[in-house]
Amino acid sequence: RFFVQMMSRLSSEQILHEVFGYSAFRGQQQDIVEHVASGGDALVLMPTGGGKSLCYQLPALLRPGVGIVVSPLIALMQDQVETLNQLGVQAEFLNSSLDARAAREVINRLLHGELKLLYVAPERLLTEGFLNLLERLQTHSGLALFAIDEAHCVSQWGHDFRPEYRGLTVLHRRFPTVPRIALTATADAPTRAEIVERLALEKARQFIASFDRPNICYRVAIKNNPRQQLQAFLEAEHANDAGIVYCLSRKKVEETAIWLKARGWDALPYHAGLDTATRNRHQSRFLREEGVIMVATVAFGMGIDKPNVRFVAHLDLPKSMESYYQETGRAGRDGLPANAWMVYGLGDVVSMRQMLDAGDAPEERKRVERQKLDALLGFCEATTCRHQTILRYFGEVHPGRCGQCDNCLNPVDTWDATEAARMALSCVYRTGQRFGAGHLIDVLLGKNTPQIEKFQHQQLSTFGIGKALTSQQWSSVYRQLVALGLLQVQMEGHGGLNLTEEARPLLRGETKLWLRRDNEIGRRIVSRAER
Ligand code: ADP
Ligand code: ZN
Repeated sequence: RFFVQMMSRLSSEQILHEVFGYSAFRGQQQDIVEHVASGGDALVLMPTGGGKSLCYQLPALLRPGVGIVVSPLIALMQDQVETLNQLGVQAEFLNSSLDARAAREVINRLLHGELKLLYVAPERLLTEGFLNLLERLQTHSGLALFAIDEAHCVSQWGHDFRPEYRGLTVLHRRFPTVPRIALTATADAPTRAEIVERLALEKARQFIASFDRPNICYRVAIKNNPRQQLQAFLEAEHANDAGIVYCLSRKKVEETAIWLKARGWDALPYHAGLDTATRNRHQSRFLREEGVIMVATVAFGMGIDKPNVRFVAHLDLPKSMESYYQETGRAGRDGLPANAWMVYGLGDVVSMRQMLDAGDAPEERKRVERQKLDALLGFCEATTCRHQTILRYFGEVHPGRCGQCDNCLNPVDTWDATEAARMALSCVYRTGQRFGAGHLIDVLLGKNTPQIEKFQHQQLSTFGIGKALTSQQWSSVYRQLVALGLLQVQMEGHGGLNLTEEARPLLRGETKLWLRRDNEIGRRIVSRAER
């Protein structure tokens, strides 16, 4: 009690030093803290590791009453409450992990005005009982603020939609005088707009930090033998490091973890299909021990605060630029050099498209998801600075030439692919716009496969006209034509390709096309230190 009252008489700097033990604010922290402490609403966009927690924890200490923090992540709540308690701040959490008695205990402390911060899951917060409790609190000891963490969860365009978040507008309606601060590490323009709209934050001041992660070296390689590629990457650069390997499916997570383990790596699987005890055990080994590799689906990572993750590897394509940014952002939170390494191929594009199309989301949403995937493909095929490309997507300007991405370290070779692309496209057209790249390449190379026999494709004018290129080069051409939007993967079937409007100028001979040369991509890039 004494501690609680004493704090509201200190300045924000004093609390920063004396409670949190930091010597200075970072970035916009001080502006945010003072804005919220003086009763203003705020929307804070700051990359992971930027120091968002302080932006609501400190104002909660400066204002009378308790700060209510909405968070979707039980593990995160526990971590934060533990840390706060160690700093001497009275904090608790309320979520499904507490039994009834423990929960009553927390509520008692709350009612006695003993807490400065309470972390609560959205579904709990939104119960009528809890909202009534908050009203009582407001008139007695006071409500310092509402912090809405992981605010992108309110957006159905975001990568982690949580329907409960939609109900959070009630906070504004029932407690209009209590300041609200919404925070997220990831939000492109449409998601940002939706957060503002859904949480009624039109009048909130927006604090948008730079999303640049200069210590992360982004690299994209073409997939040919993904496990071997991963193994080579780990051996060359991360022999003893902690890192995360993302895979799309649970099955692939299991298989990859077993494969790595058999080769002597300390790898553990993590996905939503494992029982809670196993997941917790693996997570805590990853957090507490050195050099553990977590092979995981996207179920792993949100809210994981491990500063020395040295690499994030993607064996499958994430579903959007935001997901990619978010997932790779778990590397190098300590600011030291870290790698974001990904292999991808046309097969990934096909399976991601099919996954999106097969989902039961409304057509409008699928359209947005397809656009988001396309933006990521554009990124994969980009020949310019990766940092620049990522930041441009988030509406930020970066001068490029970072010296810390594959394209800057090993400038990409391009070649005039106009003729080849025309052959590739006309082969799609002649075969009736229904076959996948594998068959199309067989036709171009003039192979005699049962499939070609069956469809009489030896008789086509494009049969055997592509012998000047190898099968690998053709697959590079097709992959890039898809990424550039000249071809699209069909919704139904098995990766059949058809022409889009964008392909016309090229087919008519009106434009030229330069593509990136793949040969060099797989090779290990030379790091700055070695140059
Ligand atoms: P976020 O929630 O944005 O991912 P956190 O709030 O977890 O980031 O902060 C990331 C790390 O930075 C934490 O270890 C935190 O203790 C540290 N940190 C935050 N603010 C400061 C500061 N002003 N000075 C030094 N370290 C800070
Ligand atoms: Zn670069």
